[in-house]
Amino acid sequence: IAPIHVIGGGMAGSEAAWQAASMGVPVVLHEMRPERPTDAHQTDGLAELVCSNSFRSDDHETNAVGLLHWEMRQAGGLIIGAGDRNSLPAGGALAVDRDAFSAEVTATLEAHPLVTIERGEVPGLPPADWDSVIVATGPLTSPALADAIRGLTGDDGLAFFDAIAPIVHAESVDLSKAWFQSRYDKGETEEERTAYLNCPMSREQYEAFIDALLAAPKTEFKEWEGTPYFEGCLPIEVMAERGRETLRYGPLKPVGLTNPHDPTVKPHAIVQLRKENALGTLFNIVGFQTKMKYAAQTEVFRMIPGLEEARFARLGGIHRNTFLNSPRLLDGAMRLKADPRLRFAGQVTGVEGYVESAAMGLLAGRLAAAERLGAPLVAPPPTTAIGALLNHITSGAEASTFQPMNVNFGLFPPLEAPLKGGRRGKRDRARAYAERAKDHWLDWLGARAAA
Ligand code: FAD
Repeated sequence: IAPIHVIGGGMAGSEAAWQAASMGVPVVLHEMRPERPTDAHQTDGLAELVCSNSFRSDDHETNAVGLLHWEMRQAGGLIIGAGDRNSLPAGGALAVDRDAFSAEVTATLEAHPLVTIERGEVPGLPPADWDSVIVATGPLTSPALADAIRGLTGDDGLAFFDAIAPIVHAESVDLSKAWFQSRYDKGETEEERTAYLNCPMSREQYEAFIDALLAAPKTEFKEWEGTPYFEGCLPIEVMAERGRETLRYGPLKPVGLTNPHDPTVKPHAIVQLRKENALGTLFNIVGFQTKMKYAAQTEVFRMIPGLEEARFARLGGIHRNTFLNSPRLLDGAMRLKADPRLRFAGQVTGVEGYVESAAMGLLAGRLAAAERLGAPLVAPPPTTAIGALLNHITSGAEASTFQPMNVNFGLFPPLEAPLKGGRRGKRDRARAYAERAKDHWLDWLGARAAA
């Protein structure tokens, strides 16, 4: 059997190599370190954790990232297995001894008879005779390869920074204050005319909000992150620093909108939230990319009328991060539509986090190996955590505003039936999502074993 080439021995690439080799397909894993370093990695080990040593919550009954852990365990994942075997006490979280963890991943792959590790950069598009490739080069993909990928995807297909506006669970917005309406009622359909959620501010509320924005503690850029601001995605607090009225003439302009709760009063400013996914369960706050520290963000954003009780699926941020516009560029099996021999996995596909990256590696490895064995797999359903991530990056997310995403239950299709037996709280719903996901994940794995 001809090998699959995996580029990048990080979280996603290591897992992809392991899964493909476990299915009996040879793998050549290309890792550029130590020959060529990145700005964040410190070692030459595979699956190096570049920052925190946490895989986040291990609660697989009510937490979406814990559920990802569970799904990966059921699939014999190397990253989660090595994480479990090298875990450190951390309450409900799975924290790992990073050196022992990386050493185990490296040794396991080095020892696998079907895995060959080649150290060295793949400095451009892979040679034509690599007919099945998994690109898992991460947020710090080497510039030579990134440029070559850009050549295939077009300039707007591959981003180098994420500028993330906070994302809110729609059900946590107070609709006695906010309302659905697109500016000037623009749109062909009712859905388009009501695509935004609007939160009105009085003069006093606006002034207090600007004060809070200016006073909030901010995260500094790391030296290597360079000068990141593009005029199109300035942090909201930088806009506010340019003048107290700047936001009122920018993303918070109160024009073309009428507050149905109080049509006679013209709001002084209006914050808009835009649909983040096709399900309509998540909304991002338009123009609110920010470098404010996380705790400050929750405090400041809950000053917005209608968002007092908001629950955030993710907070805002701006980081160095190379990622594809996957909803536009990848097919449902994570292959580049413009060159299907290239499959992408990990953070470069627009998922965010160690665990999410490894999960996408797990799926890519299995999909590539099954294809190589002549028995292509159907993708797991979006009711599973891995399927929900896949669905989000390949079709669920809005391509024009695509930004990297952590796993969360907002990405899952709503439950088909109401909860039974007096269960109706947030935890009950999460539990129901997790139970459904586990059933469907085992079905998916079982279907593979039987095939
Ligand atoms: P990586 O783990 O980065 O692996 C990519 C690999 O590809 C690297 O080993 C790299 O050397 C190699 N490579 C790149 N280009 C080439 C090439 N051309 N040829 C050969 N090899 C190549 N997530 C969290 O959950 N928690 C955190 O605390 C956290 N902190 C982060 C801090 C920073 C500074 C960054 C940049 C990201 C952080 N992330 C964090 C996000 C993300 O989850 C991790 O970066 C994660 O490691 C991504 O997994 P990956 O497999 O996609 O990429």
